Amino acid sequence: MRTPRAGEGSGTPTRTPWCAQKGLSAVPPAPGPDIDVSFEFFPPKTPEMEQTLWSSIERLAVLQPRFVSVTYGAGGSTRERTHATVRRVLEETSLVPAAHLTCVAATCAEVDAVARGYWDAGIRHIVALRGDPPGDDNTYRPHPRGYPYAAELVSGLKRIAPFELSVAAYPEVHPDAPSPQADLDNLKRKIDAGAVRAITQFFFDNDLYFRFIDRVRAAGIDVPVVPGILPVTSVKGLLRFAASCGAGVPRWVTELFDGLDQDPQTRRLVAATVAAEQCTRLREQGVREFHFYTLNRAELTYAVCHMLGLRPVEPQPPADAPEWRARA
Ligand SMILES: Cc1cc2nc3c(=O)[nH]c(=O)nc-3n(C[C@H](O)[C@H](O)[C@H](O)COP(=O)(O)OP(=O)(O)OC[C@H]3O[C@@H](n4cnc5c(N)ncnc54)[C@H](O)[C@@H]3O)c2cc1C
Repeated sequence: MRTPRAGEGSGTPTRTPWCAQKGLSAVPPAPGPDIDVSFEFFPPKTPEMEQTLWSSIERLAVLQPRFVSVTYGAGGSTRERTHATVRRVLEETSLVPAAHLTCVAATCAEVDAVARGYWDAGIRHIVALRGDPPGDDNTYRPHPRGYPYAAELVSGLKRIAPFELSVAAYPEVHPDAPSPQADLDNLKRKIDAGAVRAITQFFFDNDLYFRFIDRVRAAGIDVPVVPGILPVTSVKGLLRFAASCGAGVPRWVTELFDGLDQDPQTRRLVAATVAAEQCTRLREQGVREFHFYTLNRAELTYAVCHMLGLRPVEPQPPADAPEWRARA
């Protein structure tokens, strides 16, 4: 059972404020520290992008995420860069890194070698995914000697080492799934194979998420199913991406960005408001964990986390650090 939503069953008829009609919340909950967040980044291609990534990681690190994850490019195209980024997070920050890993275009032996490399380097958390075919080919064909789907990848990784494994979930059903039930059965297979957390594809309609959670729990899946939050930066990009991954974009979202193509500053303010309202509503209804698709930009995610009540915590040096003792 999900937590009842605010106002449900109270028996007191109230006038719906305009913001609620628009899907926005009138009353923010009191800020609180009971929120867990994780942040997703992609590996940078150029030195400029690298700089943006690391300043974003630095800015968001003080919010003490549970983990930060680094994506794996389509068809394994970012293998080296993903590895380098995850290792740098491990070696140069106090953050817990999670490496995304996919089945696409690789044999089991190749995927296993990457996973062993992660384990040997000290990386303990993998986000295990099927992945999408590279290029314009939308038809997924398992590699003849590869892991065919994410569930088999989860089993394979568990055989290599006791990784913490997260997997993907789809409140609006994965586009390749023959039915919503088949997709749910697939999620259960991934959890039964050893995954301890699911992270959802992004969505904007919270009711969809809660209906999905009801079905997930009814199917006997009891791991956290963490909502994936995408602060919108470009509506054009969003629509393109949403079409390819089967996520719906309600008309009220696109309407809010109408006329802002040439106005990035207002666009950012609107984007932060939309994502903060979505998270606030999820929180009001009992959600305590959020995964942010940061797109390597800290600003929006930081603002949304702030509105959720998170505050920066500067890293403390260990008690036996020499400079620390000198100051004491
Ligand atoms: C949080 C998150 C992070 C992501 N990170 C990345 C990333 O870093 N790199 C990347 O390339 N992509 C990433 N993706 C996208 C993901 O790879 C795609 O959505 C991909 O199409 C499906 O991956 P999956 O792990 O959900 O696949 P699966 O769980 O394997 O399922 C894919 C589809 O196949 C169906 N299916 C499963 N098993 C079978 C079977 N035996 N026979 C027939 N059909 C079956 C399922 O029902 C589903 O429709 C991410 C997605 C999410 C939500």
